[in-house]
Amino acid sequence: MEIAFSGQRAVVTGAGKGIGRATALALAQGGAEVIAVTRTQADLDSLILECPSIKPVCVDLSDWEATDAALKDVGPVDLLVNNAGFGMLQPFLEVTSDHFDKCFSINVKAALHVAQIVAQGMKARGTGGSIVNVSSQASQRALKDHAVYCASKGALDMLTKVMALELAPYQIRVNSINPTVVMTKMGRMGWSDPVKSKEMISHIPLGKFAEVDDVVNSILFLLSDKSAMTNGVILPVDGGFLAC
Ligand code: NDP
Repeated sequence: MEIAFSGQRAVVTGAGKGIGRATALALAQGGAEVIAVTRTQADLDSLILECPSIKPVCVDLSDWEATDAALKDVGPVDLLVNNAGFGMLQPFLEVTSDHFDKCFSINVKAALHVAQIVAQGMKARGTGGSIVNVSSQASQRALKDHAVYCASKGALDMLTKVMALELAPYQIRVNSINPTVVMTKMGRMGWSDPVKSKEMISHIPLGKFAEVDDVVNSILFLLSDKSAMTNGVILPVDGGFLAC
């Protein structure tokens, strides 16, 4: 199945590393004009070296006003990947206020805000569009020491459904991708311990973690017209973890 994005403009958040970076590169390779948003300038510098057509935007998405300022001149956008995310392990009884606020401000509030900015433009132009929120298997399954992360991704799933409902009249589709563990910087933080990773893998019917490309391919599908009638879905990319 060929998926092409020629003539389309895409915003990818958290595009400095991991899944977001690979998504930005894949979209550019597919012909899209890509705006890569992240908060570490060095990551943007290396991304542009790798793919000079990508337009960089450096901003901390947990800052609402700074996000407005950074994206006000972004221009018309057809595709959005709300990928920037934060996770930290903390036992439930030790969860701190700071951790809670940081996690929700990036995983939920920033996703909502960037989508508002982009969808306002889509609505005004009447061109429709596609938005993918990068959630997690953790939105639907309790994981030890993941109370805040699980709660934030559960909130993101519900946000996806309400966005799908409210934006559908403007032909804007909104879906989410819910991966299992991927060994990015974030994945390594939670799952480098071989005892823990073995236990997790034992609950994944396909018997392995996901690769970055597994997630990127599903994001591209949901962004593209190949999923033109798919709206409001929570799509696991989890080797069957959530099925059992
Ligand atoms: P990485 O940590 O590899 O990359 C996350 C990217 O998001 C980085 O470029 C990071 O920048 C950026 N980012 C984080 N906070 C902000 C912020 N406040 N403002 C702007 N950019 C920010 O993570 P992954 O690629 O693994 O994760 C991508 C998404 O996938 C996340 O939403 C995550 O929750 C989700 N996910 C990941 C899984 C995994 O096992 N890896 C499993 C399931 C879901 P910087 O490094 O500068 O902070």
